[in-house]
Amino acid sequence: MENILVIGGGLMGSSVAWKLAERGAKVIVIEQQGKQYTTGSSYGTARISRSLGPKKDVFSYAHKKTVKEVTNLLDFLNAEKPKKAHNIDEVYSTSPVSYLFRREDYYKVKKFRFKKQKRDFRTASSNSSFRKFGMSIPDDTILVREKRLYSGTLNPTVLIDKLRIGIEKKGGKIKYEHQVVGLVKKEAIFEVSVLNLKTKKTQKLKAAKVIVASGAYLAETLKDFAPYFNRVITPKKVVQSFLKISDERYAELTDLEKNAIHKGLPYFSQIGKEYFALIEKTGKGDTCPIIKAGGHQRRRNIHDLAKVWSEKPQKKDLKWIKKRFRKHLEMFEVYVSKKDIEEVSTNNCVYAETRSKIPIVTPIFNKYGSLDRNIVVIGGMSGIGAKGCLCYALLAADLLLGKSDKPSKMYRRMVKAFANPSVNLYTKRKKRGHLF
Ligand SMILES: Cc1cc2nc3c(=O)[nH]c(=O)nc-3n(C[C@H](O)[C@H](O)[C@H](O)COP(=O)(O)OP(=O)(O)OC[C@H]3O[C@@H](n4cnc5c(N)ncnc54)[C@H](O)[C@@H]3O)c2cc1C
Repeated sequence: MENILVIGGGLMGSSVAWKLAERGAKVIVIEQQGKQYTTGSSYGTARISRSLGPKKDVFSYAHKKTVKEVTNLLDFLNAEKPKKAHNIDEVYSTSPVSYLFRREDYYKVKKFRFKKQKRDFRTASSNSSFRKFGMSIPDDTILVREKRLYSGTLNPTVLIDKLRIGIEKKGGKIKYEHQVVGLVKKEAIFEVSVLNLKTKKTQKLKAAKVIVASGAYLAETLKDFAPYFNRVITPKKVVQSFLKISDERYAELTDLEKNAIHKGLPYFSQIGKEYFALIEKTGKGDTCPIIKAGGHQRRRNIHDLAKVWSEKPQKKDLKWIKKRFRKHLEMFEVYVSKKDIEEVSTNNCVYAETRSKIPIVTPIFNKYGSLDRNIVVIGGMSGIGAKGCLCYALLAADLLLGKSDKPSKMYRRMVKAFANPSVNLYTKRKKRGHLF
């Protein structure tokens, strides 16, 4: 088997490297961070893992397939020595996802989003929501709660750890604190310049095939091989806040109220600018869990990718999050004053967004306009990447190694949706015969 080099060891890079190593490929992952993951899109311990979608929805398919792939990974790890129990509950946790819709919007989306899936979700109006779900919702709204298994929260940190164990057990290598500073192709072989961030020495690695999974840094990684990529994918930042109710106020809540808060998360409000809230960490003893809250749509451009992690988040974004957080608590009939809300931390997190807003898992064109099937780019998963990570990884591995079994209808739909190499259509030809 040839050498495959994976650039970026976040959730996507680790997932693809695992799928490649599982199939016997010789993989090497280059990750600029240390073993401790601190600054990528996959940072943190919680992502909403939504399961419900239209019947033929590729994102719901990606979620289901990922759950299956996680199970396979854990089975492999559990069979390995030294024996250590790896459990799916470490990766998926908390209760199924709840959505709040304006009534008219719910009936509009119901036809295509929830059709023929009656058994997989429950709904409540303002008259029944408190009885059914312990939540009081406004008159003109509908609350939808998923019922599917593993709808809830996915822990990217735990999953990355397990994927990395799997990669190494299959003979793959991971180089931490190494940064890719150049990627070119010379006579059918990729030449990748890798800077050791500790020793400051650069070495050149050769690889027959390459996966680019460097998240927000994707265009930067491809600046030599496919310079047009800065027009295909753009890094964005989004504020996320980690909040809790103060210990004194939380101690005053009844068990019923505490229970309703736990069961009402993850929560996704589709009213106005989308707002999400989910449990990042359970509280110590009988204290409030740390709740991550934010809005995916409040995305902002990044001026300097190197500084974004240390940049102060915008005040107005934080104000908006806190306001929505209190409103959400009021639905559980939990009334707290501003001073009862503790801000554990707030930071900017980065996204990478494609111009079409659709994720890409695809071979790409080089700077001369010719399609290279030995390089696959995986990115642009904004708010849905985590829940489907191993499905996108499966597709990327198939694109590089060839598919070994007959594709199902849904798999073919997914290929059509994400694996479209015509990303060069986003560019304008300056001169005939030249892309740039
Ligand atoms: C705030 C926020 C909320 C989200 N919410 C959800 C959600 O609720 N549900 C959901 O399913 N998804 C969600 N997502 C999306 C999901 O988390 C991401 O799609 C996924 O984690 C992206 O993983 P990645 O591997 O592509 O990127 P990253 O995690 O950023 O990985 C890229 C890696 O490449 C490394 N790298 C970059 N450049 C180089 C280089 N030159 N050399 C070496 N290494 C390099 C970086 O250090 C990094 O580790 C959310 C994302 C964000 C930011």
